[in-house]
Amino acid sequence: MARHRKTFTVGWLYPDLMNIYGDRGNILTLLKRAEWRDYEARLIELGRGTAKRMDAVDIFFFGGGQDREQALVYEDLLESKQAPLLRAVASGASVLAVCGGYQLLGHYYQTGEGERFPGIGLIDVRTEAGKRRFIGDVVVDAALVDITPNTLVGFENHSGRTYLGPRAKPLGRVRMGFGNNGEDHTEGCLQGGVLGTYLHGSLLPKNPHLADHLIRSALRRRGITELSRLDDSVELAAHERILERAGRP
Ligand code: GLN
Repeated sequence: MARHRKTFTVGWLYPDLMNIYGDRGNILTLLKRAEWRDYEARLIELGRGTAKRMDAVDIFFFGGGQDREQALVYEDLLESKQAPLLRAVASGASVLAVCGGYQLLGHYYQTGEGERFPGIGLIDVRTEAGKRRFIGDVVVDAALVDITPNTLVGFENHSGRTYLGPRAKPLGRVRMGFGNNGEDHTEGCLQGGVLGTYLHGSLLPKNPHLADHLIRSALRRRGITELSRLDDSVELAAHERILERAGRP
């Protein structure tokens, strides 16, 4: 499909079911930051039963959901989204997945009751729920080299403990909060064009530098590597407020 140079398309996976703790703010941030740079920003909603135009998507967003919502989407994810999503990522599309969405992109998510939802294996992670929920503010020292500041802030609320296999790298190290599993001090995952994280909040409004990292990554296959600067003073003030609340060193 011929792509007009100045379009930017976001594919939203399961907007009606996988969208908790403000995750919709990530969609608004991606669309707005593209529009502010004169892109025609488009949104394709990819609920259950549809896989329309996934080849036209620059970045997919897969938000969080409780076990109940994950149970409602994982079969559709396997049956109708897995193949076109893997093709899209192989051709350079990016993915931002938060919490429940992050978990289902891995090998499996197992609930506290022992029910196992198979994932699509796009990323080399596995998740098993523990008894205690991890809830609270999170500060991460990110392992991304092209973002300033290199901290990420957000809010977590999950029972899943995610463990990375050798093909996945951590998004960063936890300075405050639990992150992937509350044991190895890692948070999130980077693999190919996929960024997985436990950071709700929503994540991108208070981390504009990460939003631009994702937009740049998504546009790279079209030869676009630079984005015009935006005034992020308000967004970064919110970011700093959480760092102060965390008692920034
Ligand atoms: N149900 C999953 C868990 O509890 C994901 C929760 C979420 O998306 N916030 O770990």
